[in-house]
Amino acid sequence: MILDGKGLADRRLEALKGKIKESGINPTLATVLIGDDPASALYVRMKHRACEQVGIRSVNVQLPGDVSTSEVLDRLKTLNEDPDIDGILVQLPLPAQIDTHQVINAVNPAKDVDGYHPVNMGKLVGGLPGPRSCTPKGIMTILNEYGIETSGAHAVVIGRSVDVGKPMALLLMLADATVTVCHSKTKDLPSITKQADILISAAGKADMVTADMVKPGATVIDVGTNHVNGKLRGDVDFEAVSSIAGAITPVPGGVGPMTIASLMENTLEAARSRCKPAE
Ligand code: NAP
Repeated sequence: MILDGKGLADRRLEALKGKIKESGINPTLATVLIGDDPASALYVRMKHRACEQVGIRSVNVQLPGDVSTSEVLDRLKTLNEDPDIDGILVQLPLPAQIDTHQVINAVNPAKDVDGYHPVNMGKLVGGLPGPRSCTPKGIMTILNEYGIETSGAHAVVIGRSVDVGKPMALLLMLADATVTVCHSKTKDLPSITKQADILISAAGKADMVTADMVKPGATVIDVGTNHVNGKLRGDVDFEAVSSIAGAITPVPGGVGPMTIASLMENTLEAARSRCKPAE
């Protein structure tokens, strides 16, 4: 079974458009793009396009690649205090001279639609409601929508980053999976991945997951976006693995579109929370 993230994202965006119309709220997302990295610029454009599709107003703050951390923090303070802005997304990765931790910490947690702020990460660890990181949230939506059982399943996550691997592992744990997290120092990776009922690869290494690393019938989720000879490749050798997996996401058209759909959902949720009267 091909897990069609693109089709699912289109349906989620269409539903969201209706919800936004009904809500009478006009959510606004601010993106902050630093420098001129073409991939980052493309991702930001895709996010603005999705905003337009669902009826979210979007603004972009473009900063030069040599900007200082304190200048970025000043801009974030302005966005944090702007009552018209509901969600703030700082496009990562940031140029080397910028302190990424300080930048993430400076976003108002109530406007943190990426779910990266330590307050929101803490809520995830505690199983409390809060914005969830968009990529893991999108993956959970794929699993739920396709009826893939997480309870009692052995889920193996390759990658332990703050934006994908760690929140993914935590969400799977909250969904009652037994979770193993692997990384570059893991010994004998194939012996672990072969045990997975659900295998999620977020290593950023093209075609790293080969057929001999996958249990027949497993669900394989490919987060990787790797540019190889001008083409987008996932972490998974799709041609070989799809013949033994029970279900698999393609690249492109799998996790990527669901990441954007989740961002739109988080932005509406942030706008809704801010509209609630203070208790
Ligand atoms: P990252 O910060 O570079 O983390 C990569 C992780 O993979 C690290 O934990 C690393 O281990 C581990 N790893 C690398 N090589 C490995 C190997 N050979 N065996 C086992 N583990 C290995 O990357 P990220 O931000 O999590 O992103 C991962 C990939 O997903 C990238 O290709 C990125 O472009 C893609 N991505 C896609 C979306 C989407 O919407 N489709 C969203 C976000 C990211 P160490 O910790 O030991 O270094």
